[in-house]
Amino acid sequence: MIISEQKSKEELQQVLEGKTRLFLVGCAACATACKAGGEEEVFRMQEWLASIGKEITGSVIIDEACHIMRAGRDLRQNRSQVEEAEALLVLACGAGIQSISSSTEKLVIGGLNSLFLGNIRRFGQYEQKCSLCGECILNETAGICPVTTCAKGLLNGPCGGMEEGKCEADRDIECAWHLIFERLKKQGRKGVFRRSVQPKDWGKVRKPGRHKIKP
Ligand code: SF4
Ligand code: SF4
Repeated sequence: MIISEQKSKEELQQVLEGKTRLFLVGCAACATACKAGGEEEVFRMQEWLASIGKEITGSVIIDEACHIMRAGRDLRQNRSQVEEAEALLVLACGAGIQSISSSTEKLVIGGLNSLFLGNIRRFGQYEQKCSLCGECILNETAGICPVTTCAKGLLNGPCGGMEEGKCEADRDIECAWHLIFERLKKQGRKGVFRRSVQPKDWGKVRKPGRHKIKP
């Protein structure tokens, strides 16, 4: 999921300066799971905004704020409250904020910072797991991503700096390639160690990315 966090209250106060009437948008997917933009956070944000003199014309939690059609539909369903507002404050990831921006002529203000694509270990503890490289090699690396979890993003590891299974960049962290080796060994597989992995085709991660499911 996309891990995000709320912007600081100081930053929010700055970007909201001069705007009194606001419509709030949250996201029921990733932003809810990492407690940055779900129902509870929208409610708390509403209380805080009221405490600094803002008027909330309404709010909505969109199933997936990044889904442009759903975002448009939900904003239309709340048209009068959206119209009353001077700006929309969106508690969703960068994709969600942009989907809302493309669904209204109103000023859209992002309330979150998007951090990375990762896992939730437990509440408040998030780990980056994928860099969206476009050529996934997890099937050969026992489900551990070296592109993301090796400090150097090495495709052929470990590097010479590994010591007793720890990473040279941070001795408190396990070397990703040591973990890969150990897990492959337990599985009785050689995986990526059978071959030298060729450099990635980073052209696959050209920006902006586009993907269409073939019929
Ligand atoms: S190999 Fe690429 S696609 Fe697969 S998890 Fe790692 S970064 Fe993501
Ligand atoms: S010690 Fe391991 S995780 Fe750290 S940079 Fe070298 S190969 Fe990557």
